Amino acid sequence: MRAMYKAMERKGVKTLENSQLHNGPFHKAAVTDVQFGPMRLQQDQLQVLLVFAKEDSQSNGFCWACEKAGFTCNIARTPETALESFVDKHHDIIIIDHRHSRYFDAEALCRSIRATKPSENAVIIAVVRRQSDRDEASVMPLIAAGFTRRYVENSNIMACYNELIQLEFGEVLAQFKLRACNSLFTTLERSQEAIEITSEDHLIEYVNPAFESTMGYQKDELVGKELTEVPVNEKKSDFLDTLNSCIKTGKEWEGIYYAKNKNGDNIQQNVKIIPVFGHRGKIRHYVSICRPCNDNNKAEKQRERVQAECQTDLQTCRHKDRRKGSLDVRSTTSRGSDGSSQRRHSSMARIHSMTIEAPITKVINIINAAQENSPMPVAEALDRVLEILRTTELYSPQLGTKDEDPHTNDLVGGLMTDGSRRLSGNEYILSAKQIHPVPGFISTFSLTDIPPRIAQAMENEEKWEFNIFELETATHKRPLVYLGLKMFARFGVCSFLNCSEATLRSWLHVIESNYHAGNSYHNSTHSADVLHATAYFLSKERVKQSLDQIDEVAALIAATVHDVDHPGRTNSFLCNAGSELAILYNDTAVLESHHAALAFQLTTRDDKCNIFKNMERNEYRTLRQAIIDMVLATEMTKHFEHVNKFANSINKPLAALEESEGSIGEDDSVKNVLTTPENRILIKRMLIKCADISNPCRALEQCIEWAGRISEEYFAQTDDEKRQGLPVVMPVFDRNTCSIPKSQMGFVDYFITDMFDAWDAFADLPNVMQHLDNNFKYWKGLDERQLRSLRPPPE
Ligand code: AMP
Ligand code: ZN
Repeated sequence: MRAMYKAMERKGVKTLENSQLHNGPFHKAAVTDVQFGPMRLQQDQLQVLLVFAKEDSQSNGFCWACEKAGFTCNIARTPETALESFVDKHHDIIIIDHRHSRYFDAEALCRSIRATKPSENAVIIAVVRRQSDRDEASVMPLIAAGFTRRYVENSNIMACYNELIQLEFGEVLAQFKLRACNSLFTTLERSQEAIEITSEDHLIEYVNPAFESTMGYQKDELVGKELTEVPVNEKKSDFLDTLNSCIKTGKEWEGIYYAKNKNGDNIQQNVKIIPVFGHRGKIRHYVSICRPCNDNNKAEKQRERVQAECQTDLQTCRHKDRRKGSLDVRSTTSRGSDGSSQRRHSSMARIHSMTIEAPITKVINIINAAQENSPMPVAEALDRVLEILRTTELYSPQLGTKDEDPHTNDLVGGLMTDGSRRLSGNEYILSAKQIHPVPGFISTFSLTDIPPRIAQAMENEEKWEFNIFELETATHKRPLVYLGLKMFARFGVCSFLNCSEATLRSWLHVIESNYHAGNSYHNSTHSADVLHATAYFLSKERVKQSLDQIDEVAALIAATVHDVDHPGRTNSFLCNAGSELAILYNDTAVLESHHAALAFQLTTRDDKCNIFKNMERNEYRTLRQAIIDMVLATEMTKHFEHVNKFANSINKPLAALEESEGSIGEDDSVKNVLTTPENRILIKRMLIKCADISNPCRALEQCIEWAGRISEEYFAQTDDEKRQGLPVVMPVFDRNTCSIPKSQMGFVDYFITDMFDAWDAFADLPNVMQHLDNNFKYWKGLDERQLRSLRPPPE
């Protein structure tokens, strides 16, 4: 035999090492790369232990085969040396001579080897005698002793070699991969995230120590049990249903999950459940990775710090002294934008473009994913974001409870709640309201022959400073018909609707007649005022760029009808009083639903005033939809939703585009933002909302008049509530004690400033904003003077 290996005798073990210089056809590298799932492993040269009491042709056959295969080969002559050698070297293959029981008990040796930990991954072969077919013995005793399989004696070097090669690519390779799993188990055992593995049938197969400590259970109490058996969560079966339907398709599930630990405490966790595909391409396991939402004090502190930092940032962005943390539109618009807000926006845009799941689920999933790679403070801040997304009325800022001015509190409570939250159970029914039919006689003036005083009062109707109260006086409280005729003519409404001026006039008459002249605020002058503001906004360049004529017509009609038959009481009042309307509309958007529904009833019940009668059906449906949408948008419980959606979908993308000014295709991009159907809806909603509550932005004299009128209407409601023993919705609006300046500052702070900031950033309204500023200063000055006059004079 060529001296290709160096022999070494040590405690009866002979080591035969293959030469690295071997360059025959069977040469192999000492180290082989093995791919195991996503892991790349390196397999060392295989080590073989031969246990043969005596050298013979069979042991030589294996020695030679080892050499040929490039494996290291040790030979042991006794069971003791074999065991010692194995414990020392952890051979991959052990071949034990099982033919001669007189030398040693091969099965006993195999059992002893199997009793050692490293034998877990060793392949042990028994060399057995060749037997006649008749005497073929069972392999069971061998298997029971721990042998992997048997080798029927055959000293042919090629037979030995083939056996070794089959082992190398069969059992040995499999065992080598299994050995690598130890590192994976170690990872699981040491992971700080709670991990649970279940079978396809939701049988718990594994939980790691972090899972045990989070849930307060011992491994043994969980492993082997069905998920539904363990009271980790009361709603587990519901959850499993959801989970099943969600991941049947092989997708991951990720979300927030409330589990109960052994003590019965609720634990809020971010959970990721991953199906693991296995045999026959089926899901064979589910791996759940859970991270408690607030896991320790340190994290809590970090979170508080991040929050504090965020708040500081917000406060420094704000320029109005009393504005609340509802929205910072300015910082997202062209005037105050920064690159990061745009970047944030573009990722938001990507989020919105996904359509598979509910958007909120996608948002939560994306935040969860972002948390994975984020530093602790960011991850904790995102936890807070998730909490808000899950639990809060998303668009309504929360009022600071204690130090909030009671005027603001009452206004917010009065305007932003409806029956579902304020119902008193008082079943008082408001008397059914008479609807005013089309008057038999309508003065037949036309635009060409309106009385000079009225014509004069409407002269500057294209300006913001137009005075609606002069028109109210000149028309003896019928401003809507006159202003309506003039404005609808300016926008070509009759020709769009294909109706006569006479029909339009009748319609305006009917609508105006159904406003309550007795209301101090919600009368037809308010409607005419909103119509004026609407027309003013429609003539702004950006708005014209965005809307089609059908949108303009819808906006003008919506403004005209938006408060028709308003009873001079708020939604809350109607719900508390159990009014017919509240019952009809289920305490939800009661007045706005009524205004829209009644407007169409009044219009379509009589051809004489039906301005839609000549419209093509589809166009009518589109127009009707747009009008209803705008009237419903005036409902104040949805105020922040509309404003925030506008800021996010219109202001932010426009700001981003303006920032990249001059880039190719910018005009097209702006046009795209402005004219998508969804964005046109948002623009129209914002337009009518701003028109509806634009009175704080009117010239000072008018602003004061409106403030007086709305306050009077609120006072009358409070009087009524007290008289009828109903809950007082806005107690500060008591005519004996109310501070109108304070109420106006509260209204502006809470509802107006942010909204007009966003609208101004879009439509460019410097004069409107100037009035708003002046008026606010006026109320502030008045409030301070009132306070001074109430203070006792210095001694
Ligand atoms: P609408 O009933 O459609 O006019 O909705 C606008 C809401 O804002 C109404 O509930 C008004 O009472 C309220 N509002 C309008 N202007 C003021 C103001 N200056 N002060 C307080 N509340 C106002
Ligand atoms: Zn209104």
